[in-house]
Amino acid sequence: MAWRVLARSLHGSGSASGPRLAQRVPQGVEEAAPQGMARRAAADVQAEGPRNWVFMGPPGVGKGTYATRVAEALGWAHISTGDLLRARAESGDALGKELERLQTSGKLVPDEMVLELVESKLSSLSRPGYILDGFPRTVNQANGLMDLSRPPEAVLVMRMPEDTLKEKLAGRRVCRVCRRSHNVANIMMGGVHMPPMLPAEGTCCAQPGALYTRKDDTSAMVKRRLRTYQEEEEALMRSDMMRSAESYRFYVWGGVRECLPGLLHLCDPTTGAMDHTFPGLTHDSAAHSP
Ligand code: ADP
Repeated sequence: MAWRVLARSLHGSGSASGPRLAQRVPQGVEEAAPQGMARRAAADVQAEGPRNWVFMGPPGVGKGTYATRVAEALGWAHISTGDLLRARAESGDALGKELERLQTSGKLVPDEMVLELVESKLSSLSRPGYILDGFPRTVNQANGLMDLSRPPEAVLVMRMPEDTLKEKLAGRRVCRVCRRSHNVANIMMGGVHMPPMLPAEGTCCAQPGALYTRKDDTSAMVKRRLRTYQEEEEALMRSDMMRSAESYRFYVWGGVRECLPGLLHLCDPTTGAMDHTFPGLTHDSAAHSP
């Protein structure tokens, strides 16, 4: 499969390699970023706190849920490569079929193509911040990301016990219409109750037949994805991204109700820069500190 050709058919013309990505004409759905918004000086990041984030973590840890909520609250973009690729796969053309085959077999889509996809979003982003979810997943992607038009300033690495991850993935249900994730599992973890997250009445997700189980949420696929993620994360820790961005580890010790306020506080540039202490959080490095 000629991935370079396929990547072009996904985003229009252009090659996908190296720094050239940063010079491409924006082709995304949002208008171009104002001059100067793309890269912020390290001093600004230190004074205000980061606005461009990567949320990392194993499947089921809730990075999509937290990324959606934090991004909504702060007026940022939530960019999920899994969602973007699933949406593209639905077209049913040759590229769509190939993407679906890769996604449902738990294999990664080629780096070049995902980098193109992410750059097309970042270069056309008008929002003051973003959260990348599900990207990067390889060292090539992480190194490539730092050469794109708007690299991240902070990384959040999320953690949860494996048994809980499996339970959560078995209970995950996704809305066909808006792609929001819900969960029917009722979990107790270390004395903390994580109740089901069901759709609110009157929303598209609450309509009969709206929710479905993803094809890769079967127990065999989940085992494989968790193993793959572990290997990916070990490699990513040695990437350029981890050397130059602030990094935080967050042990997800409860449900969204308990954990979201702390994460919102951390990610809000006006508060997180001054105080990033809350239960479950560790600050690993301060890339921008003297
Ligand atoms: P999860 O993190 O729960 O496995 P995602 O929705 O992030 O699910 O990804 C689903 C699938 O989409 C992956 O198994 C892979 O095939 C593809 N995918 C998503 N993000 C990437 C990426 N950054 N690089 C390569 N493939 C990706």
